[in-house]
Amino acid sequence: MKSKSTSRPPLPGSSEPAKGPFDTIVIGSGISGLATAAVLSGHGDRVLVLEQHYQPGGFTHVFRRKNFEWDVGIHYIGTVHEKADWYLQLMALTEGNIEFEPLGDPVDKIRFPGMAVDMPGDYEAYKSVLAETFPAEKDGISAYLDKIRDTRTRLRNYFSASVPPRPVTRFARSLLVRTAHEAATVTTDTMMARYIKDEHVKDVLDAQWGNIGMPRQHCSFMAHAAMLGYYLESPPSYPVGGSSVFARYLGETIERNGSVIRVKASVEKILVDGNRAVGVRMADGEEIAANRVVSSAGALNTYTKLLSDHPKILPIAQRIEQLPLAYEYMNLFFGLDVSMSEFGVGRENYWIHREWNTNADPFWDVEHPEEKGAPKIIFLNSSSQRDPEFGQHGNVGHNGQVIFIPQQGGFEKWQGSRWRKRTEDYEAAKNRMGDALIAALDRHFPGMASHIVHHEISTNLTYQHFSAHPRGVPYGIAPIPQRYRSLDLRPQTPIKNLFLCGQDLIMPGVSAAFGSAMMCTSLILRRNMGAKLKKQGKAVLGL
Ligand SMILES: Cc1cc2nc3c(=O)[nH]c(=O)nc-3n(C[C@H](O)[C@H](O)[C@H](O)COP(=O)(O)OP(=O)(O)OC[C@H]3O[C@@H](n4cnc5c(N)ncnc54)[C@H](O)[C@@H]3O)c2cc1C
Repeated sequence: MKSKSTSRPPLPGSSEPAKGPFDTIVIGSGISGLATAAVLSGHGDRVLVLEQHYQPGGFTHVFRRKNFEWDVGIHYIGTVHEKADWYLQLMALTEGNIEFEPLGDPVDKIRFPGMAVDMPGDYEAYKSVLAETFPAEKDGISAYLDKIRDTRTRLRNYFSASVPPRPVTRFARSLLVRTAHEAATVTTDTMMARYIKDEHVKDVLDAQWGNIGMPRQHCSFMAHAAMLGYYLESPPSYPVGGSSVFARYLGETIERNGSVIRVKASVEKILVDGNRAVGVRMADGEEIAANRVVSSAGALNTYTKLLSDHPKILPIAQRIEQLPLAYEYMNLFFGLDVSMSEFGVGRENYWIHREWNTNADPFWDVEHPEEKGAPKIIFLNSSSQRDPEFGQHGNVGHNGQVIFIPQQGGFEKWQGSRWRKRTEDYEAAKNRMGDALIAALDRHFPGMASHIVHHEISTNLTYQHFSAHPRGVPYGIAPIPQRYRSLDLRPQTPIKNLFLCGQDLIMPGVSAAFGSAMMCTSLILRRNMGAKLKKQGKAVLGL
């Protein structure tokens, strides 16, 4: 295709063992682990990032088959603007090298039987769209979206209150950040009922709940508000060049600071001497010493798998095991021999709900997917449509991706089998779902099926293999009120010199996971790193 198309240079990181000594080991190289390593290495620490995958990036990873490329965990990013803390902090850590391309208008095309609503990336414009569709609920909708906007302004203080010791967090939640804590500990349904009567309006306002992993009858209102407002505060964007730019530029900063990213490096245990973390033991038995360990591998992984039965850990491990995980997800990745624009798909996402009230039972039967014909919710988009650099890195194939929600535990019987070495009936189950899903796409976008020249399905077992998340649940601990009542999801642990970062500290989402790195490094360096980097980010952007 384009003559100037060249392969991307390899991402930072190597599988070679690196020579110590190390001040800090970071377990996991998702955006939270890389941001933590970038901050600490910038403050003079020699950091070793250990990643079990063959590439750094966690859910900012992209993968390729032939000339097709797909993002695994980034589709649209909100609050990309010059007043957003995380954006300025990211610019500081990457020297302003990451660029974003707005999706444009609309951002999300929401579809229910007999109803189409297009969401723009702006609160007031969305109010107008919804007022036109649901005139009887105009005032309630407006007040509800204002409540979302107000709740978002409280996020930073709310999560900052989890950085100091537990008694301070408890006190802050009862007094200083009480309004936010109330929003975090009621369900979205409860909050919506205060503003909205019409069940269809509620369904539309919660149509994108797949972005946060839990529907409104379970989801914390704060998590829902953080997610929906993320995409309404300013026009959402896509990272130019694809989501691997996060690992590229954060990784370059880490290496420039003299620190190391090691891939294909699976940590088996965090080593604790007395009450102090002293390093890690790798899956092959190698022990690596460090003065400090930060785990971005998820709270459940860290407390139940990576720590041995330390008496100080047991009560927390037991409490964290009681917190439900978010839903298992599946993906269809496909390649086409024509552009998605042939079928009217542009830079926007589609949220296609098969029925109203899909949130009550959003699961698609794994055994007999063809019986109902389609998943309850289809989240569809195409990064080749939205990336201005599409085709410039050998990724010349037009792509599409669907995320959907299977019957939970539907692939449990294949647990323990190995990636690409699973049995024929596993492949057959995936193929049945793939065929039914492609047929469903063809009904919504006539002619699409005959142009799909490559497709593959991933399950929660695939997620488990590549991200090591328990049960392969990509969003970790469910963002429900119970989670926000817990005092355990915080950067500090009862083990000295052992810290946590990652989406479990706040909620799923790239900016939230990044924000957890600010919480963690502020605790370690005893300094407000968020404020410091925000200032640096403004300087980088010349503001
Ligand atoms: C399908 C999907 C779509 C999404 N879409 C969006 C979106 O459009 N916009 C948005 O903002 N967010 C989106 N998200 C959410 C976002 O990608 C995540 O919340 C965020 O990237 C999580 O970052 P993290 O650093 O906490 O964890 P992760 O990215 O999961 O990183 C953790 C890392 O730790 C490694 N690890 C685990 N255990 C070990 C071990 N023992 N040894 C070594 N390494 C280990 C894992 O391999 C992994 O690389 C999406 C997520 C998914 C799954």
